[in-house]
Amino acid sequence: MTCSICSQFDTDGNFVIGCSNFKIEALKKHDGCDAHKSNVLKHNAKTSTKPSLAAKSISLINKAAHSKLTTLFRNAHYIAKSGRPFTDYVALCKLDVAKGSDIEKTYVTDNYYQKFVAAIAENRRNEQSNMLENSPFISVISDGSTDTASKEAELVYIRASSKCHVCSILRLTFNFSSNTDPCTFAVPI
Ligand SMILES: [Zn+2]
Repeated sequence: MTCSICSQFDTDGNFVIGCSNFKIEALKKHDGCDAHKSNVLKHNAKTSTKPSLAAKSISLINKAAHSKLTTLFRNAHYIAKSGRPFTDYVALCKLDVAKGSDIEKTYVTDNYYQKFVAAIAENRRNEQSNMLENSPFISVISDGSTDTASKEAELVYIRASSKCHVCSILRLTFNFSSNTDPCTFAVPI
């Protein structure tokens, strides 16, 4: 006879390795022991569908932080996509504060802007990489152009097909100097 609850958390003990005493007193004694009570609490915490008070508090903190960070990430994304200078991010965030948005002021610096954009870029790279890995067919078109700073750039359009339908069109832009050997140019995806 074993205790299904204690067996989850302990490795030894009469009711873990198997108790041969089938009298009711043995069960009552085990039910009242500290080790079993402690294991019951662990089991209930593990299987309970209701979040604990600590979990609720963390959830509320995360929700508030998520709301603040969402605005900051959206601003950073907008500035990066528009090709605007880093300092515009700070000005845009100050405008949001003036409009009443709740923003964590610690992150309103061009230094944090760079970190946000790096995180967004990393996420996009992962999404694109996963999509291409799952696409047995892709088509690639490229052409020369200039970027927002009027520097020479190479545009690469990629269309991928997965599970018999076209998933998306990706546009990647790379800057490289005139000294760059086109033969060594590698698409980082
Ligand atoms: Zn037990």
